[in-house]
Amino acid sequence: MATLISTPPRRAPGGVDARVAAVGDMLLRHRTAIARLQWVLVAVYAVLIIVPVLLPLPAQADHVWNNMTLFAQFVFWGIWWPFVLVSMVLVGRVWCGFMCPEGTLTEVASRHGLKRAIPRWVRWGGWPFVAFALTTIYGQMVSVYQYPGPVLLILGGSTAAAIVAGLMWGDNKRVWCRFLCPVNGVFRVLAKLAPLHFAVDTEQWNAYRLPPGGKFQPVHCAPLVPIRTMTSNSNCHMCANCSGFRGGAVRLALRSPNHDIVNVAGLKAKPWETVLIVFGLLGIAVGAFLWSASPWLVRAKIASAGFLVEHGLQGLLQVTLPWWILTDYPAQNDVLTLLDGVLLLGFIFVFALVNGAIVSASLAAAAFVSGWSVKRFHHFAQSLIPLAGAGVFLGLSALTVTLLAQDGFHMGWIAELRVAMLGGSALWALWLGWRIAGLYAPDVLRRLLALAALVPACASTLGAWYLLFWVW
Ligand code: SF4
Repeated sequence: MATLISTPPRRAPGGVDARVAAVGDMLLRHRTAIARLQWVLVAVYAVLIIVPVLLPLPAQADHVWNNMTLFAQFVFWGIWWPFVLVSMVLVGRVWCGFMCPEGTLTEVASRHGLKRAIPRWVRWGGWPFVAFALTTIYGQMVSVYQYPGPVLLILGGSTAAAIVAGLMWGDNKRVWCRFLCPVNGVFRVLAKLAPLHFAVDTEQWNAYRLPPGGKFQPVHCAPLVPIRTMTSNSNCHMCANCSGFRGGAVRLALRSPNHDIVNVAGLKAKPWETVLIVFGLLGIAVGAFLWSASPWLVRAKIASAGFLVEHGLQGLLQVTLPWWILTDYPAQNDVLTLLDGVLLLGFIFVFALVNGAIVSASLAAAAFVSGWSVKRFHHFAQSLIPLAGAGVFLGLSALTVTLLAQDGFHMGWIAELRVAMLGGSALWALWLGWRIAGLYAPDVLRRLLALAALVPACASTLGAWYLLFWVW
């Protein structure tokens, strides 16, 4: 039986490892240039969320290349978001450390703010799930992918909250990013798959002594990572400020993309991460992509409308709400009535509960055959991160595909790409499950049973994507 270890195997110095570590040091030396890049991105971000609100909505004949609103929509939802998610898996949270406008603004605000201690409620572990769920659902209610007003409301509102958090708490820190950002939880789990991380050699750290006459230079870690004990790169923004710290005890390094999930994630149960993966990424997020294409929703609407008419409540069928609560663009022929809104919410909740229940049962069965413990249940949940990440990427990139296809680009290859991504991520999830089972199950039979137990979790999620991309 394999053992649960928390540090990646040491590599011999020199070669690729030395070159990777040198990249970390190089990033540290170029902090000024990176800070300039951050401000350029803040400016681009501000233009993209503010200017479209001041312009008329695009006409039928407008395109991404001749209409600012469509261009901003394409950049935000078609390129920016999907590829930020991909970057998490490839290089960890480099986006957060080097490019995120909210990170830049909240850190600067905290340098000049009240510098208060972080209240307990801010540190509550449920925020990553709650904030992600609320923004995902609200985004669907107001059609954030389609209209500039909701974009300003949601992204601009989040940025304003990040600045306020910076002005309130911490000193030169990113309290917002660490505890409250709505995508922090998603980034945290996806970054576990990255083959790059800042590795900490604890022995070297402890053995380090300042050279005679040397002056201790503390590290500025904006997202408040306890660097000495850092075993996962979930919270690390890859800013490189600690590169080479304490005589090289901290280094940018390569590792297996499976390491964090197999060898670190089981050390401590993280129930809120499980909730985020099972009911957030595999539940609410999938439901949010599915509802608008679902014929079940159409049938539910017809049945509900019939019921209301039968009971003399047909007036309710005409009730609409302001655009900042529920989509309301009569000129675009795009209005959600109160009934639509209730059905939309119902669909997302029911999907999240049903798929979440199937996935939870799978995880419980895998943990049971491996020798039940709550910790093992949460550890198996981590194996589903590749599938969860691939789904969110494909859901977001569906808009990219639609926009490109509308503008005449050939997208015939997309089905093969989707099959490869969904199939590959499900196999990766099962491989992680197999490796995790190997830590706990004493024999191959139990390990195989644990693997088989995870199949329904993958199958139900793949089934949902199959309905969206190939049936509906
Ligand atoms: S641990 Fe902190 S200082 Fe080091 S790279 Fe990560 S975010 Fe930067």
